[in-house]
Amino acid sequence: NIEIIFVGRSNVGKSSLLREIFGAKVRVGRRPGVTLRPRHAQESDLLITDMPGFGFMSGVKDRKQDIVKDQTIRYLEKNSERIKIGVLVIDGPVFPEVVDRWDARNQIPIDVEMFDFMRELGIDTIVAANKMDKVKADEYDYLLDEVSVRLGLEPPWQNWKHIIAPISAKKDDLKALKGLLRDRLHEMKRDDL
Ligand code: GDP
Repeated sequence: NIEIIFVGRSNVGKSSLLREIFGAKVRVGRRPGVTLRPRHAQESDLLITDMPGFGFMSGVKDRKQDIVKDQTIRYLEKNSERIKIGVLVIDGPVFPEVVDRWDARNQIPIDVEMFDFMRELGIDTIVAANKMDKVKADEYDYLLDEVSVRLGLEPPWQNWKHIIAPISAKKDDLKALKGLLRDRLHEMKRDDL
């Protein structure tokens, strides 16, 4: 069994993306109430795990972010042997600003913390930069360079195409992410032989 885990802030489009990639197999849409538990779906020998989104949710206190973060960290630690691939979903167009806002408060942005943490655990981590349909063609590479800097990956972003997958769940443009997932799974199957 290979586990793939999807993490990200609320509202980055993680549900939309999961729906596009895995269809009805992963239950998506509005969660009834606030769910802090990971949700799972099994697709042949793949276990797909959807972690609750961190960050603001209407009607929920700030502390929710910390609870979700702590639970995510605990889940990752406990299952790191089995979790082979991590997908950190970010809102591409706003990511640099969000990171800078946290930095200005001397706080480590949750996204960046999760990215580093998953990699430290030895989880092969992909960053799905979603909502790229909002970015104009002439600003596309610039934005992705800014994204890679914030992740601690030296630009140009094209050097990190095995990690950064620019996508648009809304426009059903997920080929960069699907390609990276396919490559990873292919490599693993070969290693198993
Ligand atoms: P989640 O909270 O991360 O699961 O996010 P959702 O999938 O519920 O999406 C949050 C909002 O972002 C919704 O209004 C979506 O329609 C919108 N959204 C998701 N993906 C995209 C995208 O690729 N482009 C744009 N422009 N909007 C998107």
